[in-house]
Amino acid sequence: MSATPTNSTTPNFTDLGLSEALLKAVRDKGYETPSPIQAQAIPAVISGKDVMAAAQTGTGKTAGFTLPLLQRLSSNKGVKVGTNNVRALVLTPTRELAAQVSDSIADYGKYLNLHSTVVFGGVKINPQMMRLRQGVDVLVATPGRLMDLYNQNAVKFSQLEVLILDEADRMLDMGFIRDIKKIISVLPVKRQNLLFSATFSADIRALAKGLVNNPLEISVNPENSTAEKVTQWLVAVDKKRKPAALTYLIKENSWRQVLVFTKTKHGANKLTKYLEAEGLTAAAIHGNKSQGARTKALAAFKEGRVQILVATDIAARGIDIDLLPNVVNFDLPNVPEDYVHRIGRTARAGNTGQAVSLVCADELKLLCDIEHVIQQHIERKALDNFSPVNALGESREIRSSKAKKPKKPKVNKVEHADGQHLSKGHQAQSKKSPANAKPTGNGGRRRRAKPQANR
Ligand code: AMP
Repeated sequence: MSATPTNSTTPNFTDLGLSEALLKAVRDKGYETPSPIQAQAIPAVISGKDVMAAAQTGTGKTAGFTLPLLQRLSSNKGVKVGTNNVRALVLTPTRELAAQVSDSIADYGKYLNLHSTVVFGGVKINPQMMRLRQGVDVLVATPGRLMDLYNQNAVKFSQLEVLILDEADRMLDMGFIRDIKKIISVLPVKRQNLLFSATFSADIRALAKGLVNNPLEISVNPENSTAEKVTQWLVAVDKKRKPAALTYLIKENSWRQVLVFTKTKHGANKLTKYLEAEGLTAAAIHGNKSQGARTKALAAFKEGRVQILVATDIAARGIDIDLLPNVVNFDLPNVPEDYVHRIGRTARAGNTGQAVSLVCADELKLLCDIEHVIQQHIERKALDNFSPVNALGESREIRSSKAKKPKKPKVNKVEHADGQHLSKGHQAQSKKSPANAKPTGNGGRRRRAKPQANR
């Protein structure tokens, strides 16, 4: 995660109002100082304030809301949770993020006597109904499955004290707005609201208007700052030769752990097969894979049994892998902000990481959009024997970040955390080099992102 400053004004975890049971769990994790978002959010949430925080994965946001939430719930000892009731609800866009948040709650709350559970689509609903029967202090859920459970009277909100929306921007992008509004409409009016989002777009502000009450606003990561920490470069290559170029880069540079992004599920499967035929170990994760298969692939990748994980944007959302050294954009994403999310998965915790993009002539416009969003040109490297027949054009000049951002694509199909199809679009790109790649000329430019096929 992002480095925490260690000057005299940096608070300690002990200054934030957390109980000894929570401080002990924090010590067990090995954290020394709170990250900036934790330093600001923890006291505010404990005091009962609503919070709106602009923070991406990697900033420590999960502990930023989990620790004070557990503090509040545990300090209110007299409460008995009724049948099917929940005291706090955390909504996340994807199954992976839901599972990770739930793990964090279990970790930080291990010395407390609170109960939490997680529900998401793609797995049987009955065991989830059983777990909810006794009532839980914290429920982590994806919106689609939560609505199913609510409609079957398996979850009740009359005792709800706190609502948390995690990665709210992504939930809107994925078309969850109706579910979210429906859920909010059935919650008690008197409650605490916490809203976490990578950015405060106009859509997020509109959602916040009907949600938060006189919130503390926190912004710890100036938009798209992640891009500056990662070494980024690109290779111009013909579309047909991308699989071979990727194989060459991996073998030539002996990359051990590579997260590769493709635009489509089909593309992820095809590339995985190709890499395996080349003698590499690879696994694909996307919305057509069962939850079990996704969890298994991720575990194998984290443990080093699988060298290459090929993922679509949605499936990769929220994946937290420390020390991930290489991210490859096999296809550029359709929405430039997704490029920032993708490359934000490397170079965490002060480690160096690189993001490499394979860019064909058709992708020039996407590249220019990305370069505008990250406000820099991505260094181009020539790869021996892979010079494209269809040359990648020059990038456009970078205009100031104050210039209008590329518009969000209009509705278009994308996989839903719960396996359904919902709306949204997408897109990508990069700066340093492999041993054998040479810098070439380059340029940047701004334009509108196009809607993209489902991922
Ligand atoms: P998050 O932004 O919540 O996804 O957290 C990113 C990573 O930072 C996770 O691996 C956390 O375990 C880690 N982390 C969270 N808070 C701290 C902290 N105060 N010091 C060091 N690492 C942390």
